[in-house]
Amino acid sequence: MADDQAPGFDTLAVHAGGAPDPATGARQTPIYQTTSFVFDDADHAAALFNLQQPGFIYSRLTNPTVSVLEERIAALEGGVGATATASGHAAQILALFPLMSPGAEVIASKKLYGGSLNQMGHSYRKFGWNAVFVEPEAPANFRRAVTDKTRAIFIENLANPGGVIVDVEAVADIAHEAGVPLIVDSTMATPYLSKPIDWGADIVVHSTTKFLSGNGSAVGGVVVDGARFDWLTHRDKYPSLAQPAPEYHGLTFAETFGELAYTVYGHAVGLRDLGASQSPMNAWITLQGIETLGLRMQRHCDNALTVARFLESHPQVAWVSYAGLESSPFQAQARKYMPAGAGSVFTFGVTGGYDMGIKVVEGVELFSHLANIGDTRSLIIHPASTTHRQLTEEQLVAAGAGPDVIRLSIGIETVDDIIADLDRALTAAA
Ligand SMILES: *Cc1c(COP(=O)(O)O)cnc(C)c1O
Repeated sequence: MADDQAPGFDTLAVHAGGAPDPATGARQTPIYQTTSFVFDDADHAAALFNLQQPGFIYSRLTNPTVSVLEERIAALEGGVGATATASGHAAQILALFPLMSPGAEVIASKKLYGGSLNQMGHSYRKFGWNAVFVEPEAPANFRRAVTDKTRAIFIENLANPGGVIVDVEAVADIAHEAGVPLIVDSTMATPYLSKPIDWGADIVVHSTTKFLSGNGSAVGGVVVDGARFDWLTHRDKYPSLAQPAPEYHGLTFAETFGELAYTVYGHAVGLRDLGASQSPMNAWITLQGIETLGLRMQRHCDNALTVARFLESHPQVAWVSYAGLESSPFQAQARKYMPAGAGSVFTFGVTGGYDMGIKVVEGVELFSHLANIGDTRSLIIHPASTTHRQLTEEQLVAAGAGPDVIRLSIGIETVDDIIADLDRALTAAA
């Protein structure tokens, strides 16, 4: 490779952060299944605890296997550092933790994963954090919600599950005018389809549970920092990063660690105190998945588009909401932000309402009826009778989960088999 040629996506997916193990020569990243690491001597221990020297102390803070995962995802996103977490939800808390304090506000998109709406709308209040929700289709809605208490804007670029693609560039401009960072949950897009930092986002979070691990075997999350946001010019707003930390002898993270400040804080305070660390085993499983991310995502997207087109012409299907279709209001946005494909999760409506929705999820054989997305296997769920069943019919429609709605996560199986399975179930349910 020429010196000036940056490695491509698939090269980074296989190699970034990894190297043969210096102790044994093991080519595959070892699973450092250990809680703690021996100090050379008392001075070494002191330097590690004072954050004067990088190294490993205890796996709640850092672990060599987890570090490889962090470096790999940071490289794929074009970030400078990352903090791996126990789950996608833990990543959201860890991402906001350095920025928020009691009374602070995060402006969040209304079109988020349902679990995220719950986490932000209810549990954040226990920390005194207030989430203010706005419709993300018009970026100006974010500007109108800004107050002097705003500390971050949080969106999903490709929103789960309705295929809403948010104008990341426009929302990033609004965040920066307001002097706050933009955080993007890019779980559904993955860095293969879109890199939010390239469009102005400051921080990216993922549930690695989904496409990054890709085979439905490890729950995890990650926070990636693009290091574009200058905490020191907003010293009063972000004291955790831009003012002296008493517990670390008065060091100021943004001064001492420069562009790694947010990531070091994520480990040295976030994981230390919240404890939502990723296990080495799960990090290793996720690394195996990431090696084939590019291959899988392309197949996921190609299959999803073929299946969406098939459903659009099916007599038992009332509508299909997939950003990759010509009929989608988000198609132009999809071309701009996700030219390789619009992901593999989308919704459609059956002509026979609630009862037919149930018959379809019970009629499929290749699809698995469960509450997850981003598996190699094709997955199906009828939100009104499962994930959203506590809502009223009015709330169901507002959440894009009306009685007729079925959500699919299209896998990487042979597409003809996926189509035959759906066709059989739809025809039998009619
Ligand atoms: C699943 C999901 C989450 C939550 O992640 P967990 O790993 O389940 O905690 C957050 N955001 C999106 C978009 C998701 O799909």
